[in-house]
Amino acid sequence: MNVTTGLDAHESEECAADLHERYARTRRMVAELAVRHGRKPEEVRIVAVSKYQPAAAVATLAEAGQRDFGENYVQEALAKQREIRRPDLRWHFLGRLQRNKAKYLPGNFILFHGLDNAVLALDLHERFQAKSQVLDVLIQVNLGDERQKGGIAPEELSNLVEHVGGLSGLALRGLMALPPFELDLAHKQRLFSELRKLRDAVRRQTGLALPELSMGTTDDFPQAIAEGATMVRIGTRIFGERPTRVAS
Ligand SMILES: *Cc1c(COP(=O)(O)O)cnc(C)c1O
Repeated sequence: MNVTTGLDAHESEECAADLHERYARTRRMVAELAVRHGRKPEEVRIVAVSKYQPAAAVATLAEAGQRDFGENYVQEALAKQREIRRPDLRWHFLGRLQRNKAKYLPGNFILFHGLDNAVLALDLHERFQAKSQVLDVLIQVNLGDERQKGGIAPEELSNLVEHVGGLSGLALRGLMALPPFELDLAHKQRLFSELRKLRDAVRRQTGLALPELSMGTTDDFPQAIAEGATMVRIGTRIFGERPTRVAS
């Protein structure tokens, strides 16, 4: 994560100004869209997706008021947390979690967007229960049938919900989706609508509140907000293009 080396002070000030500007614009858009769809701005939370981005950029955004950050790689996230040292930040874990990394979640992440199998659920439950903690989770549903992106098939959702319901170390808070990026926006919007309907159906079946719908990224957050997203996971629009991965 040495992406900032080589920047002189002037350049990094320019970077910080750009970042502030992009962040402010994104917040305005999210707030306007929320209101347009009959909700309060604070009912749609921005999770700033900081994977591959340097800790300095996260710190700059934190100073601008952002609190929720999303990361996809445990080691990278923990390194940034150590560097930034702000206990007021809320770190979200996004996407695929390798089983051998489950032990790093307690105490370090507040919400897991991406639970998609019973074995991982049991692992996480045991890790959190051992520490008398509870992990909030969102089940990832595979709506576009894009196998490599993870997520459980809609037909299997009820079973996983039931399984998670029996695990005291986990609290199911809602659903998450990441449609295949190549789909057109109208198609993605239909998938977001499908996710909301699935959530509503599980709600009726179980009586669980399931308040959260985590859907929408840089490309498609307006469509996600239109369909009821409570969390949008936005990386590129806020931070700019992601640096290519630096091996850790
Ligand atoms: C990287 C990532 C995002 C952010 O994508 P952008 O296009 O940069 O906004 C959102 N959600 C997940 C699960 C991701 O992995």
